[in-house]
Amino acid sequence: MILVKSVSWGVWARDEIFAQSRRALRFARVTTGKRVLCRAKKDMRLCFAKTLWLWPRVRSPPRVRSPPRRRRQKSGRTFDTRYYTRGVIVAKRLLTTVDHAPDVVDLTYVYPVVSRRAGGVSIGVNLNPNNACNWKCAYCQVEGLVLGAGPKIDLEKLERELRLMLHDVQEGDFLARSAPEGARVLKDIAFAGNGEPTTSPDFAASVEVVRRVLADTGLLGKLPIVLITNGTQVKKSDVADGLKALATMNGRVWFKFDSATEEAMRRVNQAPGDVYTHLSKLRAAASLCPTWIQTCLVAWDGAPPSEEEQAAYLGILETLVKEGVSIRGVLLYSAARKSAQPESVHISPLTEGWLRAFASRIEATGLEVLVTP
Ligand code: SF4
Repeated sequence: MILVKSVSWGVWARDEIFAQSRRALRFARVTTGKRVLCRAKKDMRLCFAKTLWLWPRVRSPPRVRSPPRRRRQKSGRTFDTRYYTRGVIVAKRLLTTVDHAPDVVDLTYVYPVVSRRAGGVSIGVNLNPNNACNWKCAYCQVEGLVLGAGPKIDLEKLERELRLMLHDVQEGDFLARSAPEGARVLKDIAFAGNGEPTTSPDFAASVEVVRRVLADTGLLGKLPIVLITNGTQVKKSDVADGLKALATMNGRVWFKFDSATEEAMRRVNQAPGDVYTHLSKLRAAASLCPTWIQTCLVAWDGAPPSEEEQAAYLGILETLVKEGVSIRGVLLYSAARKSAQPESVHISPLTEGWLRAFASRIEATGLEVLVTP
């Protein structure tokens, strides 16, 4: 608006100067007095000089660039609007503990869930939008699960989405609109999603993106970060770097360890490899970052894990405790959400009573157990 006014003023001034010049010339022609003629010539020179000064400014007005927009947040921090698109994140359905599908919002990498174990809202980072995992657990709720690895990540997009999500949770009314009462609190950020996050070649870089965003929003070190993993990649150097970085930013690993016998591991997780290799990876994870064991137990064709399976599991935990492996505890749960795999016909959740009874046997090894029925 200011620019338009300046241009129109300039055009008017230019025309006025020309008109004045013309008037002065006409006046000079019709007068004979030398003094008057000299004054007219002086006016003309002055007008001409003014025209020369003004002309280039009128023809090419300077480009006006708006300064970057920075808005002050309620909390007093400054929010850089380069990363913010107007509007809010709309959840397509109310968040619940039984629906953790990332398509609840129209984003590629970031999605909100209500987590039973966290007891509030968890912001998921999905590094497997291609639904690829190197395991194929019978209880997995990922629809269209394929065997494979996570893809390369568009890190700028991940950063943009995470900033947008956190802004709407912290400064907007996302929780009030989308989460049920009693769960309207942000609990953590979780690398989870539709596959194994550490199979993505950009896992470590994604951890750095999360660090940057949390640092800018004042949440670094305050908001826990969880890596939910089957642990198969932890010995790869870039994944190990990611775990080390997580350890410095209030991160923790939830390491999947469901079965203590190869037969059960193949049946429940359809995982290649053997139990002892898996345990060596658990030790490696625990040496890099605070690690919890997460164990999902299910009834297979109506039967809970056999006594032999239970004893093997407890024996392994005892060994780990004796070795002094730094395990923070065990997260014990059953299949609460509906499996999307064909093997789902064989599985059913265990009762809370069964889980609690088994938890007390685990506690006898000296480890803390958190049961989520
Ligand atoms: S490891 Fe996780 S993502 Fe992969 S199949 Fe098992 S439950 Fe699904």
